[in-house]
Amino acid sequence: MVFIMDLENTFFELIDKVNNALDNTTQINARKYALELITNQKNYSLEKIPKTELKEKLRRIKEDWLDKIPDLLKLAKQGLNSVGCEIYYAETPDEALQYIENIVGSKKLVVKSKTNAGSEIGLVKYLESRRNEVIETDLGDRIVQMRKERGTHPIAPAIHVSREEVAEIFELPSSATVDEIIAKARGEIRKYIVAADVGISGCNALAAEEGAIFLCENEGNIRFISNAPPIHIAICPLNKIVPNIDTAFTQIRLLSVYATGQITPVYLSMISGPSKTGDIEFDVRNGMHGPKEVHVILLDNHRIEASKSPLKESLLCIGCGSCINECPVYEQLGIAFGGPTYVGPIGIVHTAVLTGIQTAVESGLNFCTMCKRCADVCPVDIPIPDLIKYIRECATEKGFLLPPLADIEKRIEMTGNPFGKV
Ligand code: SF4
Repeated sequence: MVFIMDLENTFFELIDKVNNALDNTTQINARKYALELITNQKNYSLEKIPKTELKEKLRRIKEDWLDKIPDLLKLAKQGLNSVGCEIYYAETPDEALQYIENIVGSKKLVVKSKTNAGSEIGLVKYLESRRNEVIETDLGDRIVQMRKERGTHPIAPAIHVSREEVAEIFELPSSATVDEIIAKARGEIRKYIVAADVGISGCNALAAEEGAIFLCENEGNIRFISNAPPIHIAICPLNKIVPNIDTAFTQIRLLSVYATGQITPVYLSMISGPSKTGDIEFDVRNGMHGPKEVHVILLDNHRIEASKSPLKESLLCIGCGSCINECPVYEQLGIAFGGPTYVGPIGIVHTAVLTGIQTAVESGLNFCTMCKRCADVCPVDIPIPDLIKYIRECATEKGFLLPPLADIEKRIEMTGNPFGKV
């Protein structure tokens, strides 16, 4: 009985989410505009790179390693160890948070860059609950942090916020130009970065053999937060580990074009251990200009388990957001079509892998129209609709069938017709 009530509640909550999203025409128009810009730029840049060759190469290499993630993990540990990084394998978000707390402590100033893995483990809230001050340094993330809300797109978190609204949060007149807003934000964020105790980033690729973390960006905040504070922590989900530097570069090339339509990102940082100098009598010491300590959290969170399941292809994802930009449901609903961290079609799949089938249902599993546009634009050819279909089958088996669908199922069973009279 309680079970049925939960499903009914879930159904009505989903309906509310959809109605609220559809009522917000300003956000829908802002999304449409931004998504069209990104997609046009991507299509233009795709003509300028050996797309098919890069895609086939990356897919083949990542696919080869899918069944051997523990081996890749071992290789990454050896590589990172050889360059002087501290390494932590976190099976769960709680373990990751505990490691990070042990490094950061409390009452510290932490600056961070965009990291989906950080959101996945609830990093900011956790650090704040330990009396640390945490400042987002990516402008989009800082905007949504100051508005006390959630980002609405993995690459462009403040896609839904107007210039006037951004001016307001930086205490500028609504007539402030984009340049004026940026100047104010730059000054404020920089003060935090130079004073910070710890910088935390994600990881766009980790070259296992060489122990090198790759981080790409346009703003320059990642270079800054991974360089200025004395301690750097990088959170790397296991699916971002690739065998070597050559594959990492291939992943970054595709990520750059598919994420923002740029042939190369403005900045690409490669971190292989702490900052070093041997300029005084060849006595090599850490922490000259960059961090003295580099800690790498290798986050599992069900990924090894997923590598043995029918959802394993989701681990090929490089996080470019191309499928999200192409999705007509996301265009209309925004984050109403998505889970606690990951949004859009692949977000539903990641949600099922990381937090279970029930959360996927609650996140809009049934919103997908199966138009398959997402699969067509994925640089690693993940069959996202097939994975969503599989998750729906699992949901049905587990009894997570929303009332209207259960009703249709009953009609088909009894009359052979989804609209048959029962
Ligand atoms: S599923 Fe493919 S298109 Fe979507 S974010 Fe991942 S790599 Fe990009």
